[in-house]
Amino acid sequence: MSFTLAVVGRPNVGKSTLFNRLVGKKLALVDDQPGVTRDLREGEARLGDLRFTVIDTAGLEDATDNSLEGRMRRLTERAVDMADICLFMIDARAGVTPIDEMFAEILRKRSAHVILAANKGEGSAADSGVIEAYGLGLGEPIRLSAEHGEGLNDLYSQLLPLS
Ligand code: GDP
Ligand code: MG
Repeated sequence: MSFTLAVVGRPNVGKSTLFNRLVGKKLALVDDQPGVTRDLREGEARLGDLRFTVIDTAGLEDATDNSLEGRMRRLTERAVDMADICLFMIDARAGVTPIDEMFAEILRKRSAHVILAANKGEGSAADSGVIEAYGLGLGEPIRLSAEHGEGLNDLYSQLLPLS
C-alpha cells in the first residue's frame, strides 16, 4: 500500500529542499482547487525501497505579514487533509518559534499521523533546537539535514511501518 506524506512547517525551514531530495526531478503541480495551484506541489518520492506521494506546501513566501498566518493555517489544513502522514519540520538552528507552536497545535487538533523533523540538524548549532523540539508534544524528533542528506535513514524507519 502506498501513502501520501505532506511536508509542513513555516517558510525557510527546508521543506522544499527535502521535497526535491525525495522526488528528484519528477514533480507536478497539485491542481484540484482554484487559487492554490501554486501553493502545493506534489511528487512521487523514493526513499530506499519505499515509494510514496509527497506534498510540499509552498507559496507562502510572497504573502504579506498580515495574511501570512491565515494562509499558513489554510494551506497546512489542506495539506493535512490530503495526506496520510504529515512531516512537520522545524529549523533546529533557529529553535522552536511561536509560529512552530501554532503549527504543532493545528497538527495535534487535526490528529493526523505526525512525524516531527528538526532540520538543519548538521553540526552542534542544532543541538539545543533538537532538544526544544521534544517540547512540542509530537513525539521524538528526527534530526535531519535535508541539504546534506543526513537522518534520512531515521525517516525511512518511521515511514516503513506506515507503508
Ligand atoms: P522552505 O521554505 O521550508 O521550503 O525551505 P527551503 O527548502 O527553501 O530552504 C530554505 C533555506 O534553508 C535554503 O537556503 C536551504 O538551502 C536551507 N536549508 C535547507 N535544508 C538545510 C539543512 O539541512 N541545513 C542547512 N544548513 N540549511 C538548509
Ligand atoms: Mg519551499
